[in-house]
Amino acid sequence: MDGLLILYTGGTIGMVPGPLGLAPGAGVLEAALTRMLPQDLPVAIERFDPLLDSADVGPADWNRMLDRIERWTGQGVIVVHGTDTMAFTGAALSSALGEPRGPVVLCGSMVPLGQGGDAEANLALALHAARTAAPGVWLAFAGKVMPGAGLVKHDSHGADAFRSSPQQPFNPPARRFADRRLAVLTLTPGIPAAAVRAMLAELDGAVLRVFGAGTMMADAALQSVLADAVARGCRLRAVSQCEAGGVVPAAYAAGAGLWAAGVESGGAETPELALARLWLALS
Ligand code: ASP
Repeated sequence: MDGLLILYTGGTIGMVPGPLGLAPGAGVLEAALTRMLPQDLPVAIERFDPLLDSADVGPADWNRMLDRIERWTGQGVIVVHGTDTMAFTGAALSSALGEPRGPVVLCGSMVPLGQGGDAEANLALALHAARTAAPGVWLAFAGKVMPGAGLVKHDSHGADAFRSSPQQPFNPPARRFADRRLAVLTLTPGIPAAAVRAMLAELDGAVLRVFGAGTMMADAALQSVLADAVARGCRLRAVSQCEAGGVVPAAYAAGAGLWAAGVESGGAETPELALARLWLALS
């Protein structure tokens, strides 16, 4: 079939005000599409039921999106999604889709449709990108079409809320996210080793947001917590707390404890991308 698949998962773009704040509203996106779609463009719309605030999107939902995208034989796919966890979904789809046949374009907005904000322009850009962009996962947002793998949501209110940090190509076969226990943990000055041990005890793998180019405090107890976790098979992957530049093993003596403990380097990966790739490695 020709045309586009619009996979509508939820997000601000189709929300309406309710008693507790914005929540998904029936028919908002569909009404906008009726106004905006070119007449010669066949479109299939599939909705998540219920529609989700992206705070509730997780690995099972990524698998559901992957299933549907892989079955689609048309031109392109638009995934309408909330912005809060857009970077995780961009990382997950980019890492697990194998080689997409066409463009898969993430779309959302900071202000709902019909309220004079960014929604209409972002949707129009996504409709264009889904027909013209190269095969791959993209985000159409604030006038830019950005690679989906390294997305960073850097503004919780402004319309220009995303940037995309450049990532190494990664072309594994198509995969799914298995039922594993992973998290992103941030090292902070003075963090108790016992607290990190307690967290890691509940995990099969973790992304560690470490300092700068790849350092941690000279805390022997913390280093043995990391080494013990790796020894029992818990995979640890380090990324930088800085938004750009990444970690470089052996750059600093203060990082030696990380690598000696068996922590892997995530290089320039964002935490979201490191989480997706580590999840797949454990799946
Ligand atoms: N809380 C919303 C969500 O992520 C925010 C948005 O869509 O902009 O679903």
